[in-house]
Amino acid sequence: MAKLSPMMNQYMQIKENHKKHLLFFRLGDFYELFFDDAILASKELELTLTGRDCGLKERAPMCGIPYHSVDTYIKKLVEKGHKVAICEQLENPATAKGLVSRDVVRVITPGTISESGMLDDARNNYICSINRRDHSFGICFADISTGDVYATEIASENLVLDIINEFERFSPSEILYNIEFVDLTEIAKYMSQQMRCTGELVDEKEYDLERARELALEQFGDHFTESDLPKAPLALASLGVLLQYLRQTQKESVCRIVHLHYYNEHQFMGMDVSARRNLELFHTISGEKKGSLIDVLDRTKTAMGKRLMRKTIEQPLIQVSQISLRQNAVAALLEQTVRRNELNEVLSNIHDMERLMTKVIYGSINPRELKSLSYTMGFLPRIKKLLTSFEDPLLKKINQRISGMEELHDLIESAICSEPPVTLKDGKAIRDGFHDELDELRYIGENSREYISQIEQQQRERTGIKNLKIGFNRVFGYYIEVTKSNLDQVPEDYIRKQTLVGAERYITQELKEYEQKVLTSNERSILLEQEIFAHLRKHVAEQLIPMQNTAESIAMLDILCSFAQIAQERRYVCPEITTDGEIIIKDGRHPVVEAVIDRPFVPNDAMLNRAANKMMIITGPNMAGKSTYMRQVALIVIMAQIGSFVPASFAKISLVDKIFTRIGASDNLAAGRSTFMVEMSEVAEILKNATANSLVVLDEIGRGTSTFDGMSIAKAVAEYIIRKETLGCKTMFATHYHELTSLEQQLPGVVNYNIAVKKRGDDITFLRKIVTGGVDDSYGVAVAKLAGLPEEVISRANEILQELESGASEIKPHAQQEAVTDMPIQVHMEESKEYKTIQKIKEISPDTLTPIEAMNTLFELKKMVE
Ligand code: ATP
Repeated sequence: MAKLSPMMNQYMQIKENHKKHLLFFRLGDFYELFFDDAILASKELELTLTGRDCGLKERAPMCGIPYHSVDTYIKKLVEKGHKVAICEQLENPATAKGLVSRDVVRVITPGTISESGMLDDARNNYICSINRRDHSFGICFADISTGDVYATEIASENLVLDIINEFERFSPSEILYNIEFVDLTEIAKYMSQQMRCTGELVDEKEYDLERARELALEQFGDHFTESDLPKAPLALASLGVLLQYLRQTQKESVCRIVHLHYYNEHQFMGMDVSARRNLELFHTISGEKKGSLIDVLDRTKTAMGKRLMRKTIEQPLIQVSQISLRQNAVAALLEQTVRRNELNEVLSNIHDMERLMTKVIYGSINPRELKSLSYTMGFLPRIKKLLTSFEDPLLKKINQRISGMEELHDLIESAICSEPPVTLKDGKAIRDGFHDELDELRYIGENSREYISQIEQQQRERTGIKNLKIGFNRVFGYYIEVTKSNLDQVPEDYIRKQTLVGAERYITQELKEYEQKVLTSNERSILLEQEIFAHLRKHVAEQLIPMQNTAESIAMLDILCSFAQIAQERRYVCPEITTDGEIIIKDGRHPVVEAVIDRPFVPNDAMLNRAANKMMIITGPNMAGKSTYMRQVALIVIMAQIGSFVPASFAKISLVDKIFTRIGASDNLAAGRSTFMVEMSEVAEILKNATANSLVVLDEIGRGTSTFDGMSIAKAVAEYIIRKETLGCKTMFATHYHELTSLEQQLPGVVNYNIAVKKRGDDITFLRKIVTGGVDDSYGVAVAKLAGLPEEVISRANEILQELESGASEIKPHAQQEAVTDMPIQVHMEESKEYKTIQKIKEISPDTLTPIEAMNTLFELKKMVE
């Protein structure tokens, strides 16, 4: 019976433990995939499927990937949701006896990528573990490429919303979840439609609290015991699952995960999913980065700074002291332009220390990358020196946490040559003079010819044989040749090896030893370089904690410099942060719109407080700038709470605990919800979750249904929000329902505003200035004209509008159509029916009506709306 070859047997044994993974099996310079893995990978990667004798009758399907370009292929597979197990040769095939031993060194999944080449520099890559129990859940997120872990536990009235909020905050690319989580079908839908991530159901027995405690203690030591995590069993169990998974996939390299952050949702300003999207924090509604807040604010120079900038915008602060700390640092940097420019220049030389350190820990760093880490370290003393000229507390603290790393830098510089190769395969990475044995081996390799002629000369002198020669052949290696006539002068220590017609060939102990050195010098020097490099890497790995602290501090310094830079360029001011409930903005500008439009941006004031200015009802024509204005206020609040300066001439911002927005409408037909349904669900969430300290932005409510229904809902929502007993939070409400302006008279705290326009004849000019008072015209037709609707349509629309406004019971047909068809066309529009009904109601004077007249009027009204 046919038997598998020994190598295939080894493959099968390893594959047995990695059934769910594509096994990349290292064979020399290639990673090979076999059987079903090969068939799948060849399809996904468009590679040629070949075969290999495996001992069986049929050849094993096979496809191979050169080891040096493996990252590109793994990236593609992981992006498609596959998990890849990397099986390496654990010994040198050249020196191994028998079958080279092999094993899986790590499994790469979407959430556990650590290779910087496969990751976006500007974003963290999180793996998430969630553990839901009834109305609570524990959740944690880890980025193994930077070593950060975040965990929290939330008891929630609205589980779906809160979980989605956490997902939005971290955007994980892989989620491990328990069976109870699966019951939340709305989240499953959300994940499949809105997120690019893979998921894995974890067995219930893995959520073992005791085991989780042991793992966390082992991983984080005091950081764990001193955090709030031991008091959060759901979060702890989810962390246990995560650590276990990382151990299985990353093997011993989990030691990279060093920073545990236990956070609670009330630590940062809350932003629901729609606020994040509508305020276009990271990308525009149409999905582009250009035109987003981060695009304007981010002037960071380092990859670590870029990631922190994202995290910072993601999580605005809600403590005055923390915000002031950042503001003061920005002010200090703003003041010292020269120093800041120098800092910026130095920062542009700092490479991604966090991810380079990950490679160090994983043992995957190559000589060129280690050199780039050392290059980065070379700038640390300069940063420290520049920072000493600042008295600011945060900048001082940053300086304290940055290590100069001089020794390590010097060591790497003395060890690695100036332009090291990418791999250690051919050596030439370690500098001459760093290691004596390596120098000797290299010398031998490079100077064997001269060395041999030196020995030849010595032996001639020693023996007095003038024509003594040293030669080399494949059978005997180096030999000394003496002609027959000189044989009597051959010393005793010569060992005879071969007799020729006219000469004898000898070897000596010295020559044999040298020969051994020459023949193996190249191979040995490469092995020795690998040893030296591994030693060096280990040495660097021991500096993980100071290096991580340095990387984090540099990231913070980078974003503070970025805030200062943009504040200077765009003339931002430092907002005063308070808790008195008042938001006052003078000459506020929209940070993004002002940066992209090619005409001057018209600044506007804003005033919101807990008393007379709680709700702004903003009316005005289409295109006047209502949405821009409201977003600008919300963005200024967010910018203030992340510690940035703001686009205004003055700003006083009372801390906001959550921001909600209801802007625009979009169908979510795939999720089975119409435009109106989406709109109403969003409003429902706002009313349920906002507090008196929240800021709510409502851009139109109720437009997706009939006018009466819509207006009624809009008004009722406004009333609910403004009343202290129900909510009482600061709100900006833009609407085309001019009827809502009557709220100003009815409810204390409502103030009407409109965005001014100048009308001349049919044309309007937008002044972009917010002024108090309501307007009762949307100028919809005028805006439609501006948009380029045909003149004929515009004049007809004006005709219809006039008729409707005069209360005509039916719309006269279009003159041209009348001529053609000779038939009266009746345009029974919903709007007109409603309009007429309102007019009729307005005409009624209830004081003078007799009961019978009242009855008749009621019947008449009913008929009008049927
Ligand atoms: P609609 O009611 O149709 O939604 P809107 O009133 O919300 O319109 P916006 O979308 O906010 O109007 O603004 C329309 C355009 O006007 C923006 O794209 C922007 O370019 C410009 N704009 C708005 N505000 C200003 C301003 N203060 N200064 C200069 N340009 C502005």
